[in-house]
Amino acid sequence: MKVRTEHIKEAVREYSFNEPAESFPVLAEMVAAGECRFTGSVQVALTAGRELDHYRVEGTVTVPVQLDCSRCLCSFDRTVHSEFTIFFREDSAANHEEEDEVELGEHDLISTCFSGDEIDLLPEIAEQVALEIPLKPLCSENCKGLCPVCGIDLNSGSCSCIIEQKQSKFAALKDFKVRP
Ligand SMILES: [Zn+2]
Ligand SMILES: [Zn+2]
Repeated sequence: MKVRTEHIKEAVREYSFNEPAESFPVLAEMVAAGECRFTGSVQVALTAGRELDHYRVEGTVTVPVQLDCSRCLCSFDRTVHSEFTIFFREDSAANHEEEDEVELGEHDLISTCFSGDEIDLLPEIAEQVALEIPLKPLCSENCKGLCPVCGIDLNSGSCSCIIEQKQSKFAALKDFKVRP
């Protein structure tokens, strides 16, 4: 997933890539850690061109993913979709700033460095996908989760367990009195 700078020095060009998720070390690590499973390849469509002292790469990345709900533990499918704008600056001795991220409108603007005559997009694209994978996935905003007592999936059934935690919290509040 590389773009040669000589191809985009004079004109803005369009690129599209289709890579298996395993090609991205960051994503392969997430799969190994059990955070998610990619069910298709990573599709990237972008434009790249020169702008003042940097190269501007703008586009979208899409990949189907399977996640486990953090409440009810069921597996569900999602499509990760992210829009990005990345500025690549040529890495030189005089230009050794830290990477910075500036919030701009709907999506983040990322500025990063590259050296040589080609820009490797792979690490930045992987980062975009990783950012979109929730730490605590939910199959639905209203997922009721599992009963902590009997373990039944409360989305598809109900039980008559009494959840002790809530009761004791209220009991504690009742006993608490403000002295005059
Ligand atoms: Zn759920
Ligand atoms: Zn129960």
